[in-house]
Amino acid sequence: MKAMVLQKPCSGLQLTELPVPEISDSQVLIKVHACGVCRTDLHVVDGELPDPHLPLIPGHEIIGEVVKTGKNVENLNKGDIVGVPWLGYTCSVCRYCSSGRENLCESAKFTGYTLNGGYAEYTVADYRYCFSIPDNYDFYHTAPLMCAGLIAYRSYRMCGENVKNLGIYGFGAAAHIITQVAVWQKKNVFAFTRKGDSASQEFALSMGCVWAGNSGELPPEKLDAAIIFAPVGELVPLALRAIDKGGVVVCGGIHMSNIPEFEYRILWEERQIRSVANLTREDGMEFFRLISQLNLKTEIKIYSLDDANQALDDLRKGRINGAAVLKII
Ligand SMILES: [Zn+2]
Ligand SMILES: [Zn+2]
Repeated sequence: MKAMVLQKPCSGLQLTELPVPEISDSQVLIKVHACGVCRTDLHVVDGELPDPHLPLIPGHEIIGEVVKTGKNVENLNKGDIVGVPWLGYTCSVCRYCSSGRENLCESAKFTGYTLNGGYAEYTVADYRYCFSIPDNYDFYHTAPLMCAGLIAYRSYRMCGENVKNLGIYGFGAAAHIITQVAVWQKKNVFAFTRKGDSASQEFALSMGCVWAGNSGELPPEKLDAAIIFAPVGELVPLALRAIDKGGVVVCGGIHMSNIPEFEYRILWEERQIRSVANLTREDGMEFFRLISQLNLKTEIKIYSLDDANQALDDLRKGRINGAAVLKII
């Protein structure tokens, strides 16, 4: 099979011919149709996350067809279309797994990071972590939902119940998906982008945001919560200034530059800062149930597998509105 392989961080991906992988008893072999390109892939490829499995096939927004099943696999059959997310394995016994927080599992494995992922014609996955996907979406438009959608949804849930005005910092794949959910739930979404990035601001308005501006600006109304998707620590104090008393700033990314020092006054009055890590399978099921009721539109730019480096570079340079997706077979 063809695969795009990371031999070592900061050296780009190499197009490589590899044998189709073998499955274990609890795995399925998947013929990959589409794989989204997530910012986390960029952090892995650029060496910003520690200890990736090397050599590595990145990619954790996989949509494909089951072509072979291990002997312990239940509820999945040849021909089924599945989604494979970032969370690839958990131990089910540690104190996090046994308290409904498998996203924090001590022995978790992650697709496209500590397990091989979907920048390839075939991949394997543990059947217990594969998702069935709603059938009102095609392969390519579904792929970005597998991480950008799921992490955005978890971040959105962490904003709490009483949110009317929601700020979103960094208007890429995750933001454009969750904006549609928030607008559908009658919330006012305020989008913050890099200074002068009028293309992203127009994109945000076209997705139903009530306001779009530069991240250094204050919105016209106080926010009840803000989600930061951009990996930029400077945004944390800016978001704290924009939220009202009791509000929360949720950092939705896996990696962020340092947060500059700020005065306690902007945190006081029970404002909170929190991060979101990974996902639980419950999040996924809830998210897919929810979006089967609305007609989410994911804005995608399609690349071939061989062009994965180009897709990553376009993401790095902020040249993509929405999400990049590799079209594989
Ligand atoms: Zn565990
Ligand atoms: Zn991701």
